[in-house]
Amino acid sequence: MEEVTKQHENRMLIVIIFTIFAMAGEIFFGYITKSMSLLAEGYHMSVHVLTLGLTYIAYVIARKFKDSDLFKNGTHKIGVLAGYTSALFLGLTALGIIYESASRFFNPEEIKFTEAIYASIFALIINYICIAVMEGKLNLHHHHCEESKDYNYKAAYYHILSDILISILTIIALVLGKYFNCIHLDALTGIVGALMILVWASKLLKNTVKILIDIKSE
Ligand SMILES: [Zn+2]
Repeated sequence: MEEVTKQHENRMLIVIIFTIFAMAGEIFFGYITKSMSLLAEGYHMSVHVLTLGLTYIAYVIARKFKDSDLFKNGTHKIGVLAGYTSALFLGLTALGIIYESASRFFNPEEIKFTEAIYASIFALIINYICIAVMEGKLNLHHHHCEESKDYNYKAAYYHILSDILISILTIIALVLGKYFNCIHLDALTGIVGALMILVWASKLLKNTVKILIDIKSE
């Protein structure tokens, strides 16, 4: 188990470093091309640096104090707490997307389709690489996230997975919107994606809270 945790910690660091470069690239090209979509993706990536940073710091603290007598029952709950916090943010983000999609549905803004499609594809590629690193597809030591009880890792994983889902839905909506002139689709897919994210976030919250408040498992 400890080895798996260390592996997750290492993968997190790779993902964070990669995300920092991606963020810089998106913001840089966003300014150059004056693309608000690309800039928005860049700022979203800066949020990733913060939340994935939280995930990583939790690993480091839990590892550093693992043999300390400062903790009555070891440090494994530090990761659970970080996972709970990430899941909470994930749920709030989903609510934010629902709110924004609903207001865009009733007050559609003009969408620069082509620009938004490219920005979404760029974000999709970046998040796909992050997920591949986290799933261990890019190295030989294979380990599935699904089997793991590492909720710190799972929360980070589901955030990236959520973004991939939203990107795919957004690209579909934008392409259809561009060719069939339907401006409401983007808002609709936003709501569908956000509901899916809410389900993931509440599952994570339920599982982490159970551990944090020591609910007896049957
Ligand atoms: Zn995100």
